[in-house]
Amino acid sequence: MILIDGKKEAAELRGKLKKEVLALKEKYNKVPGLTVILIGDMTPSQIYVRNKEKSANEIGLNSEVIRYPETVDEKTVLQKINELNNDDSVSGILVQLPLPKHINKQKVIESISHEKDVDGLHPMNVGNLSSGYQGSIPCTPLGCYLLIKKIEPNLTGKKAVMIGRSNLNGKAMAQLLLQEDCTVTITHSKTKDLKSECLAADVIVAAVGIKQLVKGDWVKKDAIVIDVGINKTDKGIVGDVAFDEVSKVAKALTPVPGGVGPMTIACLLKNTIECFKRKMN
Ligand code: NAD
Repeated sequence: MILIDGKKEAAELRGKLKKEVLALKEKYNKVPGLTVILIGDMTPSQIYVRNKEKSANEIGLNSEVIRYPETVDEKTVLQKINELNNDDSVSGILVQLPLPKHINKQKVIESISHEKDVDGLHPMNVGNLSSGYQGSIPCTPLGCYLLIKKIEPNLTGKKAVMIGRSNLNGKAMAQLLLQEDCTVTITHSKTKDLKSECLAADVIVAAVGIKQLVKGDWVKKDAIVIDVGINKTDKGIVGDVAFDEVSKVAKALTPVPGGVGPMTIACLLKNTIECFKRKMN
């Protein structure tokens, strides 16, 4: 079984991106900039944002984090986003989710210029992805896609099953695998027989948030299994896949932690650079 080393793959990708930033600096005499807006003091979000900032600095991007208290009003946030949309030194804007209840998530997502939407959640980018046009692709599915392609460069005709249909994960992942000529099934909480759907799959991407949902006898021999899930337990973080069982049948599997997570951050940096390049061209 191939244990997919997301940390190693992400480090490799960051290395390539660092070189790219240097080349862009040489060519344009400026570097891409990423601005993250963090509202409130939810611990996981704080940690994600700190890691994003650290990684951005490491590869030579300009990075800035704007912090607001939990009580900030929606208007202030939207005004700031408008300001950043018009700031030429900012290539990418990310508003860390989740947001406090009094702030409308859809309004926030739509207020970010689609050209700076490094999360790939703006309706324009969702449309671009489903039409096969250029645009930002959500970071986690993009990371999963790169890991899958490394294991299996030719995905034509493979059966891929997404577990979970969120905009952030399942739906975008399905589009990427469709573009690779996979036959794609999206499953969700109302799917009748999830086990049978999974057993037919050459590629499974689990993005649910239920620990060890995917069992060993749900997986076909030699399937590629990507575990996006992050579930807190007494023994630490675990994924949506029963690792011990599935590792006995799968061809390749991502661990949690150390699989998809590091790739998500590396892809955020990639998206920032892509936004910069599209602007410059
Ligand atoms: P979400 O809650 O928006 O979506 C979960 C999906 O799972 C829904 O579509 C739902 O229909 C489906 N689902 C729920 N119960 C199910 C069941 N019993 N069988 C089949 N499907 C079921 O979650 P999300 O934002 O897509 O995140 C999913 C998981 O991925 C979470 O654990 C989250 O923490 C994790 N995550 C990880 C990363 C990363 O970088 N590794 C990034 C984002 C999210």
